Amino acid sequence: MLTKSDGLAILNTPDAELPELMRQAREIRDKHTGKHAQLCSIVNAKSGRCPEDCAYCAQSVYHRTSVPEYALLDTARIVRQGLIAQQNGAHCFGIVTSGRALPPEDIKKVLEAVRLLKVAGIAPAASLGILNKDTLRRLKDAGLNRYHHNLETAESFFPNICTTHTYAERAATARAAKETGLELCCGGIVGMGETKEQRVELVLAIAELSPESVPLNFLNPIPGTALRRIQPLPRADICRTIALFRFFLPDKNIGVMGGREQLLGEEQNLVFEAGANGFLIGNYLTTSGNSVEADHMLVAAAGLHR
Ligand code: SF4
Repeated sequence: MLTKSDGLAILNTPDAELPELMRQAREIRDKHTGKHAQLCSIVNAKSGRCPEDCAYCAQSVYHRTSVPEYALLDTARIVRQGLIAQQNGAHCFGIVTSGRALPPEDIKKVLEAVRLLKVAGIAPAASLGILNKDTLRRLKDAGLNRYHHNLETAESFFPNICTTHTYAERAATARAAKETGLELCCGGIVGMGETKEQRVELVLAIAELSPESVPLNFLNPIPGTALRRIQPLPRADICRTIALFRFFLPDKNIGVMGGREQLLGEEQNLVFEAGANGFLIGNYLTTSGNSVEADHMLVAAAGLHR
């Protein structure tokens, strides 16, 4: 069983030893998840006007950004986006909405979209904020495969990035999704000003929840947000963090999501070299992604396959 000090040792790996750390992380990945790459895709189904104050988020009303603002998309449009994701080779398609929690009238529309996606042979996922078990159960009954709800950061750092809801509320929703029998997709954002100790605290908390899938985001500071002046993590630290997650979550699908294109640039192969086995294809919530062809080439170049 790895300890907090093992985690810190990984994050403090000297540059000269980094290639060996990454090789070991790949070895762990290949042993547990094989050569399978997990590709996810999302639709920003309800954008902006969020009353929460998450410091990194372009959709919060507390920040001045140019993010589009719109109410929940109609069901047909969500399903169309799911079909595009399917054609692009995504294994999982997530309906993502802004806000603390989706109101009941919107939940009804999402239930309908989930049913239609399931019929179309698409594995539906959703990220609808803080939900109770009853709503999660209804989503599962409609055919939802997976619920996405990040811890975002370490409990000890959480008040620095959000004051309008608590870490405990986030953890409770993640636990409720698991208890309902849904697959859980739960990760966080690294590089928001937290310490290395807090990065280890986050990975330990995620390991305790044992999600099937772990989205690992690296802060891409968005103009107008409270974290706009944060210096993005250097590439070597991104690699150390991916390796940390692989060592502590050996058999999980670890996908590098936000920040990949902006922070890694021409070296996005580092995602797989450091031990991850997936990423998001297509666009993000408020920023654009690579072309689908470029992403498939990255997967193939790493010796992985869909
Ligand atoms: S992360 Fe979610 S809850 Fe927080 S401000 Fe953005 S949309 Fe709202």
